[in-house]
Amino acid sequence: TIGMVAIDEAGNLSGACTTSGLAWKLPGRVGDSPLIGAGLYVDNEIGAASATGVGEAVIRAVGSFLVVELMRQGNSPQEACRLATERVIAKNPEWKSVQVGFIAIDKLGRVGGYCIQPGFDYAVYDRQSGNRMVPAPSRI
Ligand code: ASP
Repeated sequence: TIGMVAIDEAGNLSGACTTSGLAWKLPGRVGDSPLIGAGLYVDNEIGAASATGVGEAVIRAVGSFLVVELMRQGNSPQEACRLATERVIAKNPEWKSVQVGFIAIDKLGRVGGYCIQPGFDYAVYDRQSGNRMVPAPSRI
């Protein structure tokens, strides 16, 4: 999955995601990416989030919506991604060995990411620092 979240000069939030789906998926499978709230969610008052990894696990937690709601409750994007990842694992204990990752941005332009398995880096661009790769902290 390629997920993107952004804030513009006026403070408006946006997001997008696209995917080829999981390898060896059954014909007709619908993953998380096309489901608003699962693979992507944007609330212009709060923040935006996108998910990658095993879509079934993300769907069960309505993961990207959850990240935004956790930010609404006052969590930073980083903490919201961590808490949503914990929820995914709590809802899918058998999937704690698969990969799920989230990225998020809030209305202040703060960003965060978190994943189950190590090895999920995300790109950040801002005017001050330009492009950089950020390794998402992982649960394992
Ligand atoms: N999230 C995608 C899906 O489940 C797969 C991926 O992230 O590569 O369809």
